[in-house]
Amino acid sequence: MIGGIELGGTKCIAAVAESPDNILIKKVISTKDPNSTFSEIVSFFDNYEIKSLGIGSFGPIVLDSKSKDYGVLVAESKYGWNGVNVVNSLSCITSNIILDTDVNAAAYGEYNYGAGQNCKTLAYVTIGTGIGVGILLNGKPHVGNFHLEIGHMQVPCIDDFEGICKTHRNCWEGLASGPSMESRWGVEASKLDKTHVAWEKEAELLAFGLINIISNHSPDKIILGGGVMKQKHLLPMIIENVERLWNNYIPLIVPSDLIVETGLGGDSGIIGSLTLTKK
Ligand code: ADP
Ligand code: ZN
Repeated sequence: MIGGIELGGTKCIAAVAESPDNILIKKVISTKDPNSTFSEIVSFFDNYEIKSLGIGSFGPIVLDSKSKDYGVLVAESKYGWNGVNVVNSLSCITSNIILDTDVNAAAYGEYNYGAGQNCKTLAYVTIGTGIGVGILLNGKPHVGNFHLEIGHMQVPCIDDFEGICKTHRNCWEGLASGPSMESRWGVEASKLDKTHVAWEKEAELLAFGLINIISNHSPDKIILGGGVMKQKHLLPMIIENVERLWNNYIPLIVPSDLIVETGLGGDSGIIGSLTLTKK
């Protein structure tokens, strides 16, 4: 058996599988303090012999396996989690752990089994508790000095909302993540009516970031996932804004072919985490 864990800021998904596309059992666990979250995850795997475990984790997290801090979360992106070693905390499940970011894992899942198959340059964007982006070049994550932090790039402000990123306030994530929508409108994003002006603003803010990703990476596909993208009316609004802002500068792939929803529904991250074991 193989195991997978998608460790998110709001929820974790753990799964036991025969192969990434054959999940036997899966559990959603809400992300609380590290101790109780890890103990719930570990007991989920109690009755299984796990040969290898793929983890796609929120970050920022040290991915360099040669570093003494390998597996350590290095910022307070979620209260109480700074300094926690994700790999050590889960090593009782198996000694064979493969770690990547949640978004690289989701991109990997989509590349192997979903909407990103055969893409030379694939971008996976999650718009959830935070905004994160994984870029795969010929199926391999773009690795820099540290992993990419595209959610923290600067985008124009469109009104006087000051943003909620703890570090930068009005970076892309600070302006357009799920919790930033809740802070801006005083109600959870899932409760906002489809006709609310919030969605027009959200679509424009998301399009700013996507234009930057297009300019920087020239991807042949951008897959949008995460909780906020459960709002199905949002994708066409984002595409319209990207077309308007790009303004026919150079030809793009037909925007509705370039920017798409996930092929694996909400399972990109967990299928991708399981796929890490095949690396
Ligand atoms: P995680 O960030 O833990 O991986 P999600 O991608 O599901 O989890 O993101 C959770 C966030 O997405 C919530 O905080 C909320 O802001 C937003 N969200 C979840 N469901 C919806 C929905 N149906 N409509 C709009 N926003 C949602
Ligand atoms: Zn930020």
